[in-house]
Parts: sequence; C-alpha cells; structure tokens
Amino acid sequence: MSDEPTVPVRCPECKTETRVALDEVADAIERHNANRHDGDEVAAVAPEVREHIAELAADDLGLTE
Ligand SMILES: [Zn+2]
Repeated sequence: MSDEPTVPVRCPECKTETRVALDEVADAIERHNANRHDGDEVAAVAPEVREHIAELAADDLGLTE
C-alpha cells in the first residue's frame, strides 16, 4: 500500500536512515541490530518522530477523527 505511514529508522553507527512501514518498523530495527550490531540496540526510530508513532498508529486504526 502506497499510503502506508512510514517512519525513519536511524542508525548512528551505520550512518543510515531508512524509511520503514509502521507495521514493519519493529522487525526492521530488530533485524538490523541483530545482523549488524550483535543484537545491541543501535538503530532506532528517529527520536523526533518517536512521539508521533502512537498518533500514526491511532490514525491507522481509525481511532482519530
Ligand atoms: Zn547499524
């Protein structure tokens, strides 16, 4: 789906930022950290959007007007 909300996942060690679909972001982070960083929590959702994820999820579920 092209209108799926995405969130930026940032990895300071790899110096990468990737937009990932909201419903895949947890898996993407886990996979990246497992593959690249021996399971350390290096990659994460960009801090400035982290607080909006709940809103995005709410929009996705049709909970907001
Ligand atoms: Zn990384």
